Amino acid sequence: MNDIGILAIDQGTTSSRAIVFSLNGKKISSSQQEFTQHYPANGWVEHDPEEIWNTTLDTCKTALEQAKQKNTQVKCIGITNQRETTLVWNKETGKCIYPAIVWQDRRTAAFCEKHKHYEPTIREKTGLLLDPYFSASKVKWILDEVEGARNLANKGKLAFGTVDSFLIWRLTNGASHVTDATNASRTNLFNIHTQEWDEELLEFFDIPASMLPTVLDCSTDFGIASKKLLGEDIPIAGVAGDQQAALVGQSCFNVGDLKSTYGTGCFALLNTGEHAVLSSHKLLTTVGYRLKGKTTYALEGAIFTAGANIQWLRDGIGVLQHAKQSQVLAESLDYDHGVFLVPGFAGLGAPHWDPNARASLFGMTRGTTPAHFARAALEAVCYQTRELMQAMHNDGIPSSKVWVDGGMVANDWLCQFLSDILEVDVFRPNMMESTAQGAAFLAGLHVGLYADLQDISQYKTVDTVFSPELGEGIRNRLLKKWDLAVKSTLAFSQE
Ligand code: ADP
Repeated sequence: MNDIGILAIDQGTTSSRAIVFSLNGKKISSSQQEFTQHYPANGWVEHDPEEIWNTTLDTCKTALEQAKQKNTQVKCIGITNQRETTLVWNKETGKCIYPAIVWQDRRTAAFCEKHKHYEPTIREKTGLLLDPYFSASKVKWILDEVEGARNLANKGKLAFGTVDSFLIWRLTNGASHVTDATNASRTNLFNIHTQEWDEELLEFFDIPASMLPTVLDCSTDFGIASKKLLGEDIPIAGVAGDQQAALVGQSCFNVGDLKSTYGTGCFALLNTGEHAVLSSHKLLTTVGYRLKGKTTYALEGAIFTAGANIQWLRDGIGVLQHAKQSQVLAESLDYDHGVFLVPGFAGLGAPHWDPNARASLFGMTRGTTPAHFARAALEAVCYQTRELMQAMHNDGIPSSKVWVDGGMVANDWLCQFLSDILEVDVFRPNMMESTAQGAAFLAGLHVGLYADLQDISQYKTVDTVFSPELGEGIRNRLLKKWDLAVKSTLAFSQE
């Protein structure tokens, strides 16, 4: 008899991955391909849609083939994806009329700055800010700048989608133009309270409603991935943006449950239940997941560079040979080493939201070594997480623990210092691929492989719990210095 599997597609910013999971969340097979980042102008970031598609299709085929060899029958597909990245394609040909404009792309900064007065309306309706990061201003840019685009859009011939939507269109041979509520909630066009595309926002961004995908629950029928592409017809049954998928993968299903993912950047999502809490501390309000028409909301805080700080030490200035080395170096110093890095390499996110902030290093002496750099880079991510957690607490939802995942949390020293600085237990799960796992769970839920969320939570297993050990005196001393370093960094960017 065959075992049952679920194919999770994890289409990320730097690579496409396909993983077949068993029902209890174990990895049966996987395949990953990196693809090219294009930087055509200062602040612009693009992906080739065909490369996104081809790497996704290839990795799916490989993972499915390997699963078959292990006697696993894949029942359904879950998709998770880099969020906000914007694609516009011709409905007749299925070809994109412009490269994918990636979430990091800042080309629409002037537009967003010019219309800052409109931000309160956007915030109230979408829970977001008016920022180039989100999809709407990118769609507008394509319609305004690509020759003939607006004309085609007005005739109803163009489709807009985030990556999930584009992949589903391709996998179903154009039969489904759909997305899920989490991805929709990152566009600046979706009213998170009514759960509908917002007419006033569509007018503001000058985007025809005919371009938009239908918004579905996260766990439902998104269409059938074609046999011609994958060798067999497989239903696409679960979709969520990457951070929301990680929230599901980490089983953060109760109010106050917090997960924090430490990859290139860091994203902390806090489950706020059926209430869309509007933050007074510049956190984003977003859809955590939507199941059977019921929306669970989340507060989100982003640290733009987390593992990227370590990458910079390795690739940018050659202070490290490899990321792992940061742990040994950090361990070699004591708490009063005196060096602080405020990693505003790409500006500072919540609770500051200063796109003009730049990274700064404080407290160096002639005795400063690579160990100080590594330690300060790791510490910074922990101090920044504390700022996010504090903002969440001040918005009325405290958490008593945090679930972590992402490449950086392989670093034990980081996890321990995180717990010391947050003053709560830090839970590291056994399965580090929470994002892909969340997509798989959502798909399995729809096709009846799981009964409910409770059923899914039983597969969560803990690898290590890190508990606070640091004395209050030292912690307060460090936090005071950190605050001073952040204030100085912000002051510098304002000059
Ligand atoms: P993404 O999904 O954003 O590509 P990953 O979750 O794969 O990122 O994590 C990769 C990041 O984690 C890299 O930026 C790398 O520098 C960092 N990283 C990997 N291992 C360690 C480690 N042991 N200590 C600190 N950082 C690490």
